[in-house]
Amino acid sequence: MKNIFLIISVFVTLQVKAQTPKFQGQPPIKIINTESKPIQTQWKGTSTFKDSDIVFSNDFVGARLNGIVKRNDSTYTALITSENTPINISPWYAFKVWATEKKSINVVLTYQETVKHRYYPKLSSDGVHWSSLDSINYTEYEKGDADFGPGALPLYVKIRLEIGPDTLWVSGQELETSSRVFTWADSLSQKPFVQTRSIGKSEQGRDLNLLTVGDPESKNMLIVISRQHPPEVTGYLAMKAFVENLSSDSKLARKFRKKFTTYVIPLMNPDGVDNGHWRHNAGGIDLNRDWANFNQPETQAVKEFMQNKINETQGKFYFGIDFHSTWDDIYYTVDPKLKGNMPNLVYDWLDAIKKRIDGYDPNIKSNDKIQPTTVSRNYFFAAYGAEALVFEIGDNTPRPFIKEKGRISANVLMEMMLDRLKK
Ligand SMILES: [Zn+2]
Repeated sequence: MKNIFLIISVFVTLQVKAQTPKFQGQPPIKIINTESKPIQTQWKGTSTFKDSDIVFSNDFVGARLNGIVKRNDSTYTALITSENTPINISPWYAFKVWATEKKSINVVLTYQETVKHRYYPKLSSDGVHWSSLDSINYTEYEKGDADFGPGALPLYVKIRLEIGPDTLWVSGQELETSSRVFTWADSLSQKPFVQTRSIGKSEQGRDLNLLTVGDPESKNMLIVISRQHPPEVTGYLAMKAFVENLSSDSKLARKFRKKFTTYVIPLMNPDGVDNGHWRHNAGGIDLNRDWANFNQPETQAVKEFMQNKINETQGKFYFGIDFHSTWDDIYYTVDPKLKGNMPNLVYDWLDAIKKRIDGYDPNIKSNDKIQPTTVSRNYFFAAYGAEALVFEIGDNTPRPFIKEKGRISANVLMEMMLDRLKK
């Protein structure tokens, strides 16, 4: 009898596991030459059509729509292409559409060769407030066989839109352009213990803004970065929630700021974001491959900032985190056998986050090859001993959960770091 129960319970466990495939993470990082290379500048303007009152526009910050053709009175095909190649599958798109008369139209979203549709469409009437397209208006074509991840993507999709004289915004994720990010940073800097300043300029002259949360003379430091990759908005939203909690009025946050100062670069790639890039900066480079050679101004600025801070304060970076987005929530950590300035902090932290969120069990992938540093996590660890990780949020993770996770993550981290500093 006991055996039967055992068999049943093993069967049930396997079934549950099979139903919830976990994202296994990306293949090992390739080392590439990070010297600047050309990008294709997107043509910007409005597109109109013969015998039609419909107008498409990509003439705004963050837009990406490389071509649009009319197939018949109600169907239009959009072509979306990247800033250069080779490039990861993160095909960002954003455009506006309107018409004199109210009507329904179909827009087919297509991409350059080998690239598939990834981002579920979001709609807005003001470019600020977004909602997901109703799934009855969404049709996938030539979907991959996998149940999950890149292999499950459709080649192209058809979306049905209700348009009229009011502008409809259509975008792969919420539009979080540099001006919106800087507005957020400025609003946070209304607090007396938060300051903003620029630590350098991107290739196209946009500021690389830095937020300082806490005393700028503190010897105990954390570094937080986000948005090396423009479309990774969910990672950015998690970073916001995380930083807002480190800057909150809670007793814990106030205590934390007496001991630790957090430096935040919320937007590492402002040129890429404002130009609607899929992944690269204006130098045509994946910034998260440039943390060994520092050929790009954005990575160079962070390196100089961190080195100067160490020289000024004679202190330590205890923790470094880089927020990204991918198919599902996953953490890329440094192998726990490598000890930094607060050994095992990242592992114990992730473990505690899992325990605090019911039923939450994201994948953790650790890496012991940190040379050449190449990616930010390796650089933070190898150069400064900061316990470091890449915090990846799923593209479709519900926004309220992102906020909640940011809050819990920040609180657990503050508790642990205060506790370990005492020891
Ligand atoms: Zn990324």
